[in-house]
Amino acid sequence: MPIKDGKRYCINHMSARMNRTETLKALVNIDGSSASGTLNPKSGLVVMPFVCEECGYLELYVADRTTQHEK
Ligand SMILES: [Zn+2]
Repeated sequence: MPIKDGKRYCINHMSARMNRTETLKALVNIDGSSASGTLNPKSGLVVMPFVCEECGYLELYVADRTTQHEK
């Protein structure tokens, strides 16, 4: 998503701000094939999602990097 003056905007709606979800999320790895694999809750990446309220467009930032940006 474009960042202007530290504010995040939707790529579809250049005037619409994207809002952070209230909590961080985690992406976990799947062991095996994508269709029949099992989730591995001990793996993965903590992410910070941003959502456009107009179109539902979703983007993710890696949480540890993003928190540095916001300080
Ligand atoms: Zn949008």
